[in-house]
Amino acid sequence: MINIADEKRVSARGPTPEVQLQSLCDVLNDAQKPEYRDAFRALVKRWLDAGSLKQMVANDPGLWLDVSEAWKPYFTPIETGAAWSVTPIPSQTKLPSTPEKWAIRHFALLTLNPLRDKLRGPCPRCQSYYIRKRETKVYCSKSCGNAASASRSNAVLEKAQRQALLRSAAKFWPQWTEYKHPNRSFWIAGRVNGSHARVRTKNGWKPVKQVTAKFVSRNAVEIQKRV
Ligand SMILES: [Zn+2]
Repeated sequence: MINIADEKRVSARGPTPEVQLQSLCDVLNDAQKPEYRDAFRALVKRWLDAGSLKQMVANDPGLWLDVSEAWKPYFTPIETGAAWSVTPIPSQTKLPSTPEKWAIRHFALLTLNPLRDKLRGPCPRCQSYYIRKRETKVYCSKSCGNAASASRSNAVLEKAQRQALLRSAAKFWPQWTEYKHPNRSFWIAGRVNGSHARVRTKNGWKPVKQVTAKFVSRNAVEIQKRV
């Protein structure tokens, strides 16, 4: 197992902590076995929510007992004769592996991994777990971070456009008469669209989208508040 004092030697013999952490992370994102993935995710979430392993143990000593009994050490003599390699083997191999038991076993490996604090997730955008490379990282990848910021600025733009459309509709609201058009909403939508309202964005002015009579009638209350 990955024992800090023994890290180099174990690394040469088995998966390095990096490789092992990546494979645990892959398990957390494994869509092939959703019930196993979700059971493991639930444990990881409890650990991340608790803030530390110590707090997690304090919150649920029974669970911790299961975690610590999930594996037993298997000692192997190595070439020098002076040192021993320790490999964990599942301690309940004969029992059917429920998703919960399976998850506890994987979680136990995670608690032994010296890099475990780099595991983060779920990403607020794609829900994946990931290994963070920087302290402040919130999203799993650059593309998720960029997409999230694009959708935030889209939301800001949408809101600004809506306000501009409502203001424009309010300007035309009192000008409508039945002589101009029998349908007020239809007439106002035509005026609003003809006025080519624009909104200011950080990339300059942008024309607002076209409105429909339905938009006007649906927002009649909002529009009249602005008249
Ligand atoms: Zn993501």
